Amino acid sequence: MAGGPTLVIQTAFLGDVVLTTPLLAVLAERHGPVDVVTTPAAAPLIETHPAVGAVIRYDKRGGDRGLRGLWRLGARLRARRYSRAYLPHRSWRSAALALLAGAPERTGFADSPAAVTYTRRMPRPTAGHEVERLLALAGGGPGEPLLGAAPVHIALTADDRAAADAWLRARGVGPGFVALAPGSIWGTKRWPGYAALAAALDGPVVVVGGREDAPLAEAVVAAAPGRAYSAAGTLGLRASAALIARAAALVTNDSAPLHLATAVGTPIVAVFGPTVPAFGFGPRGARDLVVEHASLACRPCSAHGPQVCPLGHHRCMGELSVESVAAAVAAVSGVEAHRAIRTGR
Ligand code: SF4
Repeated sequence: MAGGPTLVIQTAFLGDVVLTTPLLAVLAERHGPVDVVTTPAAAPLIETHPAVGAVIRYDKRGGDRGLRGLWRLGARLRARRYSRAYLPHRSWRSAALALLAGAPERTGFADSPAAVTYTRRMPRPTAGHEVERLLALAGGGPGEPLLGAAPVHIALTADDRAAADAWLRARGVGPGFVALAPGSIWGTKRWPGYAALAAALDGPVVVVGGREDAPLAEAVVAAAPGRAYSAAGTLGLRASAALIARAAALVTNDSAPLHLATAVGTPIVAVFGPTVPAFGFGPRGARDLVVEHASLACRPCSAHGPQVCPLGHHRCMGELSVESVAAAVAAVSGVEAHRAIRTGR
């Protein structure tokens, strides 16, 4: 390891943090384990990762909010004497934190509003998956070849797996269940067909998500009584990932669970509405499938997906049939194992 330690500041959404894990691995291979500043919510996703030395929680909307919180965290970071900071998140706040940390080398994307504060500005690829775009932050410096790409990875512990297995055992759910993730922060990204899909599947169904997804999850459970169970808000993030790891397939919107499934290698059916995989956040597995309304002219309508359809009809999601999603589930999870899907029988 050359010089002092390395800092990565990534305080974006959960999915972004998961997609940053290949960058963390590449940087750790080059410089030794990296410290990461991230949100308290995202911290469990990376604190067990072998590339990570320490996780420093930055509660930017809670206890650390405002200039005082930024200054206080900056002082803590400065004491660690970082040689370099990498800034995958392009915000002024991340840039200010790197400056306050006193890291003499600060690498970020050239198209960032805060690029003037960086000492190294890396071109941000305009195409490709977000994983590769983030990896571009580490590439290309003299004597710093981009090392072999690491996978998107969450390091599950034995406790995480035991918690997931105990949860499944307590409900009598065995192998071969289908996991459903009906939630999203953005309203228009939520496909409204999850309850009907749960009813259309013959096998066990487990709904995953955060506490905020519990009402959605209950509606799905109610559609398949005795066969569907909600884990929304009941397990930690890594235990949720361990649960997804046990599933035959995950059906998800363009949201964080998609990236959890990528990290644990579970086949994915991704339902895209106002956004498109070309934005760089699609599934990456060879067997994964995307279900989308390919011919709708208004797609995509925003980078994240608005809360409410600006045209009022939400056809991008409303016209995606349960049959098409159920067929995709059968295809990614193995038709033989899932011939019990009722749709089309
Ligand atoms: S404008 Fe089109 S893409 Fe955007 S939410 Fe409405 S139907 Fe979906």
